[in-house]
Amino acid sequence: MKHPEDDPQYQGLKVNKGIPQPPSVNPQLKKRSRRQYTVDEYVDGILSGNIPMLSQAVTLVESANPEHQDVAQAIIEKCLPHSGKSIRVGITGVPGAGKSTSIDAFGMYLIKQGHKLAVLAIDPSSERSKGSILGDKTRMEKLAVEKNAFIRPSPSAGSLGGVARKTRETIILCEAAGFNYVFVETVGVGQSETAVHSMVDFFLLIQLAGTGDELQGIKRGIMEMADGIVINKADGDNIEKAKMAQRHFKNALHLYPLPESGWTPEVLTYSGYYGIGIEEVWDMIHRYIDFVKQNGYFERRRNEQSKYWMYETINERLKNDFYRDEEIEKLLPRLEEEVLSARKSSFVAANQALQQYYRRRNKI
Ligand code: GDP
Repeated sequence: MKHPEDDPQYQGLKVNKGIPQPPSVNPQLKKRSRRQYTVDEYVDGILSGNIPMLSQAVTLVESANPEHQDVAQAIIEKCLPHSGKSIRVGITGVPGAGKSTSIDAFGMYLIKQGHKLAVLAIDPSSERSKGSILGDKTRMEKLAVEKNAFIRPSPSAGSLGGVARKTRETIILCEAAGFNYVFVETVGVGQSETAVHSMVDFFLLIQLAGTGDELQGIKRGIMEMADGIVINKADGDNIEKAKMAQRHFKNALHLYPLPESGWTPEVLTYSGYYGIGIEEVWDMIHRYIDFVKQNGYFERRRNEQSKYWMYETINERLKNDFYRDEEIEKLLPRLEEEVLSARKSSFVAANQALQQYYRRRNKI
C-alpha cells in the first residue's frame, strides 16, 4: 500500500529506512580478544603502558585458578625490576569521611601536574558481599574519565592476607606500567589498615570534625600508624570545628612516642569537595618523603615490607595447601565433632590433622 507520506507533495517528510550506524565510541571494544597472551606479551604490554593489558594481568593476579596464578607470578617477576619508583600512599577513614571525594581531589591535583595515578583498594567486607565498593570508578567521577588514572576495586575473594597480597602485587604491575603515584584505600574500621600500612610509604588518616568525641571510631593503633592526619570538610560553617579538631588531634599525638621514621605526624584541615587545602596536603606528603629518603627510613621501610610480605606469602600458601587438601577437608569436620563432644583435646586433634597432612605430603 502506498503511504500518504510518500506523496511527492510531502517530499520533505520522507521517512528513511534507517540511519547509518555511528562508529563505536569505545575504541577498546574492537581490539578486545579472548586470546590468552604469553607472559612476554603481557610484560611488553604493561611496560609500554597498555592499560587493557595491565587490567587483564591484574585479573590473573586476582584469579584463584592455579594456571592463572603461575602466569601472574611470571609476569610479576619480570615486572619487578621496573617497579618501586612510585610514591605509595595509604588512605583510610571511616565510611562517610570523604575518602572518594578526597581521592578524586588529591588525584586530580597530581594528574594536572602530569603524573600518572593508580587507585587500588583493600576492602575486607567485599569477601562477604562478593563485590567491593572501595575503588569503584563511580565514586571518583573526575578521575574515572582521566586516561592517566587507573582505578581498580578491591580484590573480592579470599582472606584479608590473600586480598592484601594481590593488591601488593598489583602495585608492582602498576608501577611497571608507569604509574608514579599509587593510592591504596581502605575503610578505617578493621584489620585492613595494618595490611595497607605494610605496603605504602605514607599512611594518611582522613578524619572529620564535629562528631563529638574526635577520636571516636578510630582505634589508637590506627592513629599510631598515621604519618599524617587530615580533617576533611573544613568548609562553610564547619571551618571552626575543623580547626578545633586539628588542635585536639595535635594534642593527642603529643602523647604518642616519636615514630620510627623520626617524623612527627602533622595535622591539617582541608575540603575535598571544595578543593581547599589540597596543595598543603601534598606539600606535607612530599616533605615527608624527602625527609625519610634523607634519613634512610624510606629504604628501610620498603625492605621491612618486602620481608613482611615474603613471610605473609609463605603463611598464606601453607594455610591454603593445608585447608584445600581433600583428605584434610574430610577429616576436619570429624575432628571438630570429637573436640566439641570432649572426646579429644584441641591439641591432640590439631596434631592428628597436621600429621595426616605431612604423611600425605611425604607420599607425593
Ligand atoms: P567515603 O565513604 O569516605 O568515600 O566518603 P564520600 O567521599 O562518599 O563522602 C561522603 C559524603 O560527604 C558525601 O555526601 C560527600 O559529598 C560529602 N563530602 C565529602 N567531602 C566533603 C567536603 O570536603 N566538604 C563537604 N561539605 N562535604 C564533603
